[in-house]
Amino acid sequence: MRSPIQTYLDELHQSLVGLDEGALADYIPELTKASPDWFGISVVTMDGVAYTAGNADQTFTIQSVSKPFVYATALADRGVDIVSSKIGVEPSGDAFNSISLDPQTGAPRNPMINAGAIATTSLVGGADSSAQWQRIASSLGAFAGHDLAVDESVYHSESATGFRNRAIAWMLKNFGVVDGDPMAALENYFRQCSLLVDCRDLAFMAATLANGGIHPVTSQRALPAEHVERVLSVMATCGMYNYAGSWLFEVGMPAKSGVSGGIIAVLPGRFGIGIFSPRLDIKGNSVRGIEVCKRLSRDFSMHVFSRDGHPSMALGRIYTGADAPSRRQPFAEMRACLVSHAHRIKYLCLHGYLAVDGVEYIIRKMIHMSTDAHSFILDLHQVDGISDCAARLLNEVRQSFGRNGTAVVFSRIHARRAITVPLKRAVTRGDRGYLSFEDNDLAVEWCENRLFGETEQPPQAVTSLADCLFFKGVPVELMQKVEAAIKVYAFAPGDHIVKAGQVGDSRVFFIESGQVSVLVPLQDGAHHRIASLGPGMNFGEMVLLGQTTRSATVCADTAVTCRVLESRDLDNIASEAPVLKIVLLENLAGNLASSLRRATQWIAALA
Ligand code: GLN
Repeated sequence: MRSPIQTYLDELHQSLVGLDEGALADYIPELTKASPDWFGISVVTMDGVAYTAGNADQTFTIQSVSKPFVYATALADRGVDIVSSKIGVEPSGDAFNSISLDPQTGAPRNPMINAGAIATTSLVGGADSSAQWQRIASSLGAFAGHDLAVDESVYHSESATGFRNRAIAWMLKNFGVVDGDPMAALENYFRQCSLLVDCRDLAFMAATLANGGIHPVTSQRALPAEHVERVLSVMATCGMYNYAGSWLFEVGMPAKSGVSGGIIAVLPGRFGIGIFSPRLDIKGNSVRGIEVCKRLSRDFSMHVFSRDGHPSMALGRIYTGADAPSRRQPFAEMRACLVSHAHRIKYLCLHGYLAVDGVEYIIRKMIHMSTDAHSFILDLHQVDGISDCAARLLNEVRQSFGRNGTAVVFSRIHARRAITVPLKRAVTRGDRGYLSFEDNDLAVEWCENRLFGETEQPPQAVTSLADCLFFKGVPVELMQKVEAAIKVYAFAPGDHIVKAGQVGDSRVFFIESGQVSVLVPLQDGAHHRIASLGPGMNFGEMVLLGQTTRSATVCADTAVTCRVLESRDLDNIASEAPVLKIVLLENLAGNLASSLRRATQWIAALA
């Protein structure tokens, strides 16, 4: 199926092909060789999918679109203090080639106009100008995701005619902004402007900025995260020359344009956009490029100040331990306790990327529920990541609830680093840290135990088979026959008592002491626990209904002793006393009915 995004871009391209206002830049003679009709659009997502329309493969020289990336490189190499001491961050309101410095500071006003850009190039790390050039080329290659070549004829053309830029470079030398040879820095600047890209490359370079400095496909870090906001801020205020104010007003994305007709726009955390169309308006910006960005911004609300989401989207379903109890079969006292208190276990399913606004909303809901809450389970299965400040807030709320006797535990994090790293970083000194469970069943069982109270112990052992619910109603004389056929087995913690898929084992197990887990194997090699059983409970009884293949694995959680009966022995006793079979089948049916009821209740809670 064709993506509607692709259809939209094709239509957008089609609707602007006829827009032929503006003219090619001609002050660099080589640039006049471009076809004025070339027109390509590319949009790249944060997971590295590139949509393109029009002449997406047409290469052109990057020109001023290189400036934010070289600025990024200088910040990475020299640090913000040194770079800021040489170059300002104020919009100039002047043309890109203005021969001026800030009268107060004596520094170029910003790195997006030529004066600031040439100074920036001179600041990039490297022992001499050729090492600096290597650094620039490899850094811009990292943003694009592959090496970029220089268009030698455009480079020579600009170098042969760039007298105005020479004047700017000597001015920078005169005022002590450039330390070394200003002409060597200028040649590197001309070369950086002559790197060849297509609009898809531009979109990837923009997407790398949108993605916090990491290329969405190669996963290479092109820029330390701490500098990304700085680069985007300068682009937002100065990227479109003396059109920057109107641009932010109408389009609202950090952007940068160049005289060859390229424009990049960045929607942080969402998209990188690259456009190429060489006809420029009088301010030096691509006419169609501006129009494309205006339409995208309007049609997809891509303005950085617009917001589609609502904090409440971070919180999905809420239910309680009464709606969805653990799958363990509780013994009588525990069951009684759960009937009246299980609703005090609160499950909250969280969604998406958790930032401060979403977590504020979640915490407010938790406080609201806290009057009767005994524990909270925050299910993070659908969470993609947590910001550091959001993790700090969650940690604080966990601790303050904890001091009041309400536990806050996490479930289903599954070792995802975008969650575990911020959560661990948020744990403060002297704090025991957070508790997290592989699945909700384990989490809710822990909360149920806590509700029941650590002081009250579950029954230690069941000594008579007659105490098992399975044999309820079997006449005493028949029980004696059953007891005579029994064998006792002991298992160590971790032993697999039966294995899923195993064929031909027809034993029925009755737990005398200890605890077992019933596990269903999942495709990825992990297990899903469907029940936990203790003394007086049984498993493997499905053989009595003719099921010969084990459907689940039963694993000893503790040391376990079981009384074990061969189904054949039961059949032998029942052949003389059919009432045994009748009573057992009745009990089995009752058991199945209550499992079904529980499952239905679960499904209703999840629906
Ligand atoms: N190389 C060009 C110059 O310095 C870049 C200018 C631009 O793209 N705005 O004039």
